[in-house]
Amino acid sequence: SDSHFPVPASPAQFDCALHYPQFFPPNKTNGSQKIEFADIGCGFGGLLISLSVLFPDKLMIGMELRDKVTEYVKERVLALRVSNPGQYENVSVVRTNSMKYIPNYFEKGQLTKMFFLFPDPHFKEKNHRRRVISPHLLDEYAYVLRVGGIIYTITDVEELGVWMNACLDGHPLFEAVSESELEADPVVELLSSATEEGQKVARNEGQTFRAVYRRIAASR
Ligand code: SAM
Repeated sequence: SDSHFPVPASPAQFDCALHYPQFFPPNKTNGSQKIEFADIGCGFGGLLISLSVLFPDKLMIGMELRDKVTEYVKERVLALRVSNPGQYENVSVVRTNSMKYIPNYFEKGQLTKMFFLFPDPHFKEKNHRRRVISPHLLDEYAYVLRVGGIIYTITDVEELGVWMNACLDGHPLFEAVSESELEADPVVELLSSATEEGQKVARNEGQTFRAVYRRIAASR
């Protein structure tokens, strides 16, 4: 199924003007603003819609593998733009396989926030390599995240929560964000309340397991 969607050859080939026309008006010399937030496996886009209003000046994108779900998010954003002129211009979505193509979309140090909310658990040991958080993929995420940038993860599957926490804890370029910082960060609350999956878990009064880590500089 991977062969049916276009992938930019490099981040410079990604057409921001197409995704955020208001931020890149045709007759002006194009701004240099770059995407800063990426919601990986964004599903129906609830988090992005909330973030869009909270950070109206930041460009953000959802990456979603399922074609129909991606189309839904696209339509959802376009409809919101129409009914709220001037708003939701900073949010968009692409259909892609984030496990393969992150470096095609983002340059080194480009992102300040990455989200991995309620990712698929892939329970069997032989499928752990298909998890979106892994030691190998964290190298890629560290590359595209700016020093000081934050990676947010949450799941209702305890085993996966333990895994994501362990991967992040074991990586030399990430450190846990302190409880007091988490309390002060308005984004943290949205991890469950704004996502469709989080709302489902909350309705069923399920437990969630969160791991939020900061990209740090390499120690010499
Ligand atoms: N984050 C959303 C939420 O919290 O409501 C959706 C969670 S859903 C359980 C996981 C999503 O990740 C699905 O929509 C799935 O299609 C997407 N996904 C799985 N593997 C992916 C990949 N390699 N690249 C992009 N999206 C992926």
